[in-house]
Amino acid sequence: MEYSKFNDIIKSSKNILILSHVNPDGDTLGSMCGLYCAILENFKKKCDMAAMSKIPDIYMHMPNIDKVKHIDEIDKSREYDLVINVDIAAIDRACDGKILFDKAKSTINIDHHKTNNAYGNLNFINPDASSTGEVLFGIFNELNWKVNLDCANCLYIAILTDTGSFRFDNTKPKTFESAAKLVEIGVNPSDIYKKVYESDSKTLVMFQAYCISKAKFLNNDKIAYTVVYKKDMEKFSAGDECMEGLTEKLRAIVSTRIAFVAKEMKSGGTKFSMRSKFTDVAQICELFGGGGHKFAAGCTIKAPVEDAVKMVLKEIESREI
Ligand code: AMP
Ligand code: MN
Ligand code: MN
Repeated sequence: MEYSKFNDIIKSSKNILILSHVNPDGDTLGSMCGLYCAILENFKKKCDMAAMSKIPDIYMHMPNIDKVKHIDEIDKSREYDLVINVDIAAIDRACDGKILFDKAKSTINIDHHKTNNAYGNLNFINPDASSTGEVLFGIFNELNWKVNLDCANCLYIAILTDTGSFRFDNTKPKTFESAAKLVEIGVNPSDIYKKVYESDSKTLVMFQAYCISKAKFLNNDKIAYTVVYKKDMEKFSAGDECMEGLTEKLRAIVSTRIAFVAKEMKSGGTKFSMRSKFTDVAQICELFGGGGHKFAAGCTIKAPVEDAVKMVLKEIESREI
């Protein structure tokens, strides 16, 4: 019955804004553009779309990505009929998008993070889904909305990237069923694979090689981490998109049980990107005001990098990992 409400709100809303999360990944962008395509196809309505920070180059081929505005380009005094958040675990991950979210007549929150506290008027949160893209595809099917090839390509990128190419434990029968249906619509998996995974910049590869080369290992190599300083980013002219996939590379080491990257932020705080093989790291990140999934989570600590790393290591080392 919530599905029909979703349909009704979209039908009755004249101006709609879709928000993605800061440091956008394939899921938040694929879900945002996929929803844009679906609303355009089924209701002939053009939504506004906003990104909070730079879109990584590997996603610049996504259908309708050129329509996405930076949040600074959107008038904050606007009152949208409807604001839809996709893949935004907590509202502060929408940065200044929160101003528009709070003012909107209606809000919808579509997500798959188990730490999402259902902060929208209408909430579609399925922690069993691989990705927000998969949640959206389920909604579209439930409502018998037409899913065109542009939309299918966006949703496929969302599912592909959030499952690490169907490798992570969030990959379920439903994930393959969804992917199969998207391929039936016309998605070309090898074409998307090349665009997403064989399009890394030289800067990203060289920067990540450097970050890995200075990794530290603790607890019989069960803990692997690296610290990324502002000066490292400057030295390589690396942007935030160069962080993508770095923590996974440390987790890929056979001995690693928990891996993290601690990044010194421009503002002075420290951003953590954490991955694990067995431990619930969302629980650890929640202690510091962050969240995410059991094996992939993050948080930002308002402390200099050395202090923040000590705080996080203390929590990790107090656990059986
Ligand atoms: P990342 O390491 O940035 O790729 O994030 C891993 C997962 O944790 C993603 O699903 C993020 O949405 C989530 N996450 C990262 N940082 C936060 C945060 N501060 N609050 C809530 N969720 C987060
Ligand atoms: Mn995401
Ligand atoms: Mn996601």
